[in-house]
Amino acid sequence: MQVFKTIKSLREQVQAWKSQGLTVGFVPTMGNLHAGHLSLIHVAREQCDRVIASIFVNPLQFGPNEDFDSYPRTFDADQSKLKAQMVDGLFFPSVDEMYPSGEIQTTVHVPAELTGLLEGASRPGHFDGVTTVVNKLFNMVQPDVAVFGQKDFQQFAVISKMVTDLAMPVKLIRAPIGRDEDGLALSSRNQYLTQEQRAIAPKLYTTLLDIELAIKSGNRDFTALTMAASKQLLLHGFDFVDYIHVVNPITLMASKACDGSFVILAVAKLGNTRLLDNILLSKLD
Ligand code: AMP
Repeated sequence: MQVFKTIKSLREQVQAWKSQGLTVGFVPTMGNLHAGHLSLIHVAREQCDRVIASIFVNPLQFGPNEDFDSYPRTFDADQSKLKAQMVDGLFFPSVDEMYPSGEIQTTVHVPAELTGLLEGASRPGHFDGVTTVVNKLFNMVQPDVAVFGQKDFQQFAVISKMVTDLAMPVKLIRAPIGRDEDGLALSSRNQYLTQEQRAIAPKLYTTLLDIELAIKSGNRDFTALTMAASKQLLLHGFDFVDYIHVVNPITLMASKACDGSFVILAVAKLGNTRLLDNILLSKLD
């Protein structure tokens, strides 16, 4: 596995592969890799001849009081995991390589209809940081296929909108959520949890499963379902529920009873740690 720290070296290799007619799959990450990330690599590998992963903790997508400084950086372990997955190239740029103009930076903004609600409401500016860095990474890697996790459901919707609106020549794939044995969605932030909090954390998923079951049984009173779920999470020991909503998977607007597809999105906090999860229900009658 080659490690590229510069855009120039990355581009030279990608161009060499493309001139041989090989396709390139891309998995962008912030590192501290777990089995969920590695499942995305597996999907990329199935789709393409060559796979590039990137590790970049993107300052632009963190708010001033968020965990940019303390975000776990574990390059050596990540590198070994990617090698074991037979990844062909790892792009590991510095902040200066990614943002040579510093603060004076052109940004990509997807309209507020998709970016101002849910995560965007809790984390102002977050999605501008995400779309800007993903756009730059796409320009650098020029992948045929890029794989993202369903875990960050809104992020995928926002990136899809950017790719469609800006006619970017890349096929996006949304890969399923990797979970621990007890159902907790894998996340680099799970390691912030104390033992006691870790025991409570899987209740987020079981609470979403309860809503899923109710919807599958014909219940369409989304407000009552999500209010009850929110109370339940607090009873389980969560400190704060940022949101639980049942929304349309494309528009992210509140679901209507007559809709055929739903996504149940939730974010709840244990201490300062925000846990995200979701369940997608497609094509229900
Ligand atoms: P991150 O390093 O957290 O920015 O995540 C990089 C990519 O991995 C994103 O596309 C995430 O949606 C995806 N991802 C994170 N956690 C999981 C998970 N538990 N299962 C599948 N994909 C995930």
